[in-house]
Amino acid sequence: MRKWLLAAAGILALGISGASAQNYPTRNITLVIPFAAGGPTDTVGRLVAEAMSKSLGQQVIIENLAGAGGTRAAGQVAKATPDGYTLLLHHIGMSTAPTLYRKLAYNPLNDFEYVGLVTDAPMSLIARLNFEAKDLKGVLEYIAKNKEKTSYANAGIGSASHLCGMLFQAAVKQQLNTVNYNGTGPAMNDILGGHVDLMCDQTTNTTGQIKGGKVKAFAVTTKARVKNLPELPTMDQAGLAGFEVAVWHGIYAPKGTPKDVVAKLTDALQKALKDPKVIESFANLGTEPVPQDQATGAALVAKLKTEIEKWRPLIQSAGVYAD
Ligand code: ASP
Repeated sequence: MRKWLLAAAGILALGISGASAQNYPTRNITLVIPFAAGGPTDTVGRLVAEAMSKSLGQQVIIENLAGAGGTRAAGQVAKATPDGYTLLLHHIGMSTAPTLYRKLAYNPLNDFEYVGLVTDAPMSLIARLNFEAKDLKGVLEYIAKNKEKTSYANAGIGSASHLCGMLFQAAVKQQLNTVNYNGTGPAMNDILGGHVDLMCDQTTNTTGQIKGGKVKAFAVTTKARVKNLPELPTMDQAGLAGFEVAVWHGIYAPKGTPKDVVAKLTDALQKALKDPKVIESFANLGTEPVPQDQATGAALVAKLKTEIEKWRPLIQSAGVYAD
């Protein structure tokens, strides 16, 4: 009886994964975004989801699941049914959270299947429009005078804005008054409203506001200047030697998602990143799709491993931890 049951379960399992892989997808796919709507991860996610929908022949729908600097969503997707209908788009936070959080509900290297890298977005240091500084030197003078009264917006511990703020505070040797949001979309509203002083965020969120003259911008965080924002110096050029961070994004599926389903998703991602609308929209936001050979599971795992090692000592020396 037991043997029969085991055999039946095996046939059933084979049947389910075989069918799902062959016909996949037969219904909408959910792409979970670990931050609030209107922010940079959401923006990138919506552009890629729309393009992936075209080649997959089913809608890729966005679900914003904000909280705990992106770790809430990652934990939920890790536990989702591994059938290819729940995916996660996350960024550099996948590599910083394992060191930042004493307890994490998931292991980025064990609990997922890897679809591929998406983009590597620069960040930019911005301020409310009436902020009393015109360049990075002025920002540093303002902070030296106002110390922790200077407020800094971020999307919680584990977010890219948190990481950039942590590096910035270490570089200027000052503690800022950190204000947490569910994403830098809502944080941007408070910058625009003049309620918070500073934010370092992806150009995929800040470019429109910088170009529209709605915020002050001081520098970008990449090694080279950003094509679309040529007037902004790099942090290094503006006075913070060696300051460099770029926000890489990847797409994940829960561990156990059938290999051929993941392969279909990787193929759809690669097509999306060649889509002229995606290329143009990314360029307008100061970024670009990764090269095709990076839009693979292998490239995403390799990046994740390197970045976990890269950020661990920096986070440990900053001594920032969350429970
Ligand atoms: N850019 C944000 C961050 O990681 C998150 C977001 O709202 O997309 O700081």
